[in-house]
Amino acid sequence: MKRRARDSRSLMILVLLGPPGVGKGTQGELVAGERGWRRIATGDLLRVAVRGGTELGRRAKCYMDAGELVPDELIVAMVREALAGADADGVVFDGFPRTEAQAAALDEVLDGLRRPVDRVLVFEAPEPVVVRRLSGRRSCPSCGAVYNVYLAPPREDERCERCGSELARRSDDEPETVRRRLAVYREETAPLIAYYERRGAEVLRVAADGTVEEVRCRVREALGRTGSSTAAARSRRAGHL
Ligand SMILES: [Zn+2]
Repeated sequence: MKRRARDSRSLMILVLLGPPGVGKGTQGELVAGERGWRRIATGDLLRVAVRGGTELGRRAKCYMDAGELVPDELIVAMVREALAGADADGVVFDGFPRTEAQAAALDEVLDGLRRPVDRVLVFEAPEPVVVRRLSGRRSCPSCGAVYNVYLAPPREDERCERCGSELARRSDDEPETVRRRLAVYREETAPLIAYYERRGAEVLRVAADGTVEEVRCRVREALGRTGSSTAAARSRRAGHL
């Protein structure tokens, strides 16, 4: 039983950026699923850590129970753990980093692995499109099914198809909150595009308006057919080619 040794030189690090509501979570799952890469979404890491009652989870829960943001230091520690346990050829970061401070902390963790962020996939869509997507989102409080009254409406108005419960809108998706979240993205997260360009990562832009399938095709094109052009990207970066 030989476990394939993880060669950190061949580990592809991909960061997804884009405003809330642009559909990058879905695309991130598709990219990771198709390639057998590990997707690291801090929301999921937090949930798993809290549910599992790990040391980091217990500390994070304390802030969450108090209605406070979990400090970067804890998030970064979870990311470090997840990276150490990632037995995959690639890692997709989704929803992290969100600020330049987090990006710098991630760089530090990756430096320890002698891995830079190779590629950044930026999902772009006009603001009215993302506002519509977010404000149309409804979820079932009983079974967790997610709908969109504009894009993927339930058969019966405002009722869950699976269990018949009345659908609800998360407070996060109220129009006013949506506009605030977009403003935060513009101020804190969008500058990461320039940050990664400066760091020499390959920044790829994808138009994210359209169906999941349409965007999936664009993502595939952007990443290349095999996803193994890391060496080429690196030699381009180094000025060879
Ligand atoms: Zn339901």
